[in-house]
Amino acid sequence: MTQSVGVIGLGAMGMGMARSLLANGFSVAAFDLAPQAMARAKEAGIAAQETPAGVIEASDAIVLSLPLASHVEATIEVGLAAGAFKSPKIIIDTSTSEAAVSRRLAAKLSEIGHGFLDAPVSGGPQGAASGSLSVMLGGDAQWVAQANPVLDALASKVIHVGPSGAGNIAKLVNNMLVACHMLTTAEGLRLAEASGLPAEDALSVINSATGRSALSEIHFPNWVLTGSFDSGFSAGLMRKDVRLALELARDSDCSMPVSELVAKLWSEESSGIADDQDFMLLGRVAAGTEEKTNG
Ligand code: NAD
Repeated sequence: MTQSVGVIGLGAMGMGMARSLLANGFSVAAFDLAPQAMARAKEAGIAAQETPAGVIEASDAIVLSLPLASHVEATIEVGLAAGAFKSPKIIIDTSTSEAAVSRRLAAKLSEIGHGFLDAPVSGGPQGAASGSLSVMLGGDAQWVAQANPVLDALASKVIHVGPSGAGNIAKLVNNMLVACHMLTTAEGLRLAEASGLPAEDALSVINSATGRSALSEIHFPNWVLTGSFDSGFSAGLMRKDVRLALELARDSDCSMPVSELVAKLWSEESSGIADDQDFMLLGRVAAGTEEKTNG
């Protein structure tokens, strides 16, 4: 069984995952570019390494939680160049990344005896911290079997979607729907308010009827109607997901007129919400939801 696990990227998601792994008895080594993240890791009892290659060399399984596919690729290349892949490794890439990059890395690493799984997640920082994420896996069954003990510590639901890249595709489809539901739910609640029905009352009906979604059941009650707008997921990262979903649609000759419109409405220009602000601000509805805690 894998005992030593590395985590590279200790942001809203990676830090929670590192803590969950620690709580499940793994020895955890980690790296993040940000000194504050490294300081928090040390406080939590995580072995902070000075380089990503150090994490790879010290670990049997390495969990990546990085903003972009380019960061994922660069991290693996740095590890290869530094000779960090000495013993067999399994890379579990939980970043919301790109299928083409995952396929390329999986093929390259498998040639030299290492596994690479695209393993994007759903469940947010709360799911990461409580080990209750949903994971959408792409890759070969032999590597999935090897990754299972680590995935069990991170997730309450693991779906092996298919070959390399399948997890990334599933995640982008999911998050394009999240982007749509955010705007359609906000619009529905705005209609309720404009017609004299309070958003809270409309939401409780929607959540016992067919218009509901995770957005109406979880996100709007917790982070919009409370006015807190602090879900821990940035608008910039969500815009990346929308952009990647539309690129996938273009590459696949798939017409997505609704999603194209949603992408325009999600833009910084149209929404007035900056990349570093919480993505829930896109769901701001009419009355009673002024922002209370963040910019
Ligand atoms: P974040 O911005 O909070 O954290 C990213 C971390 O990566 C930062 O600490 C940053 O310093 C570090 N980093 C950036 N480049 C690096 C590099 N080259 N090497 C090492 N560290 C580096 O992001 P997040 O919200 O934790 O998201 C991480 C990934 O998970 C993203 O791909 C995101 O799309 C995905 N995701 C996020 C959520 C969420 O709710 N926050 C949910 C599901 C998936």
